[in-house]
Amino acid sequence: MREVTLPSEFAELSNSVQYVQRKSPHEYSSSCPKCGGCIHPDGEPPDRFVLLMPERSYAGIPFGFCRVCGYKWWQGQDGNKNVDPAVIAELERQAKAAETKRNADRLTKLQQFSTGELWNELHRRMGEEQRGWWMKNGIPEDWQDYLRLGYTPKRSYRTKTGYEYSPAYTIPYFGYGFVFKTMQYRLCNPSALADRYRFEQDLGTSFYMTTPSQKIGDEVVVCEGAKKGMVVKIWGEPNITVLSVPSKNDWRNCGVLEEVKDCGRIYIWFDPDCFIRPANAGNNWQPQPVLFANEIGNNARVIECPVKADDAFIHYHMDMAEMFALKRQAFKVRLNTRTKP
Ligand SMILES: [Zn+2]
Repeated sequence: MREVTLPSEFAELSNSVQYVQRKSPHEYSSSCPKCGGCIHPDGEPPDRFVLLMPERSYAGIPFGFCRVCGYKWWQGQDGNKNVDPAVIAELERQAKAAETKRNADRLTKLQQFSTGELWNELHRRMGEEQRGWWMKNGIPEDWQDYLRLGYTPKRSYRTKTGYEYSPAYTIPYFGYGFVFKTMQYRLCNPSALADRYRFEQDLGTSFYMTTPSQKIGDEVVVCEGAKKGMVVKIWGEPNITVLSVPSKNDWRNCGVLEEVKDCGRIYIWFDPDCFIRPANAGNNWQPQPVLFANEIGNNARVIECPVKADDAFIHYHMDMAEMFALKRQAFKVRLNTRTKP
């Protein structure tokens, strides 16, 4: 979900809310003006505050409601604009209903995907060219079949100005036992190159399992991005579990921390650019793999590799001895921030 500009109807809130997201034409969300002050710069944007556009709201006024602290906002509130308490109660009910509906939509979509096994249809759509593309990227045909990788000739995706279309490779995300979680699209001709991966709207994000038929083992490598994880699983050490997080900035809320917390050893292998300090970074800046390892604790090790994980195997022909060396050189992390609230 990307951040957007706060609609003018909510201008009075412009200094008190952050992380505005558009949920539908009538509904936005953001941090809460009252309780949403504690925001992690590297985590998911908070969406606890529901903003109803006037055309949607019962009273025809812009209305906001926090599902965490119950804070209510309406336009003109600061100027003591009086609104009938019954109207406010109705607006609150609407805001809650909007939240419930969104959850229901998510479940419906999940069901559509799962009962229709839509990934099989997308998998069947792959021709020689598409299979060749996956192969060139280090994924042999038996793995393409096993992971139900696919292709769609026309995928709509949202841009800053509206919708555009592109062919896309499809990557279904499964949990253990091939329980479907979400679908990811790798756009072939995105309008912005850096923004080519999109998740199915409404289904949210998840971590990626490269071997959904097997339980997570004691030794795990966590990569950045599904495709890199596949390559590490296929070409790297055979007995290790390989998982991927959606991106270097999106690992806190994809469920992976909970899944690996009891594993004996967790290697975090993100892209080399993670270790480059951004120009606008504050004094407390730490690379994302270091934050990840710190979150897990003593069993985590950070791999710092000068090339991307898939390039290491495909372009530089890394062998097993080199992978073992990389693991031996992985470092342990102890930050003094574990006591934060
Ligand atoms: Zn709140």
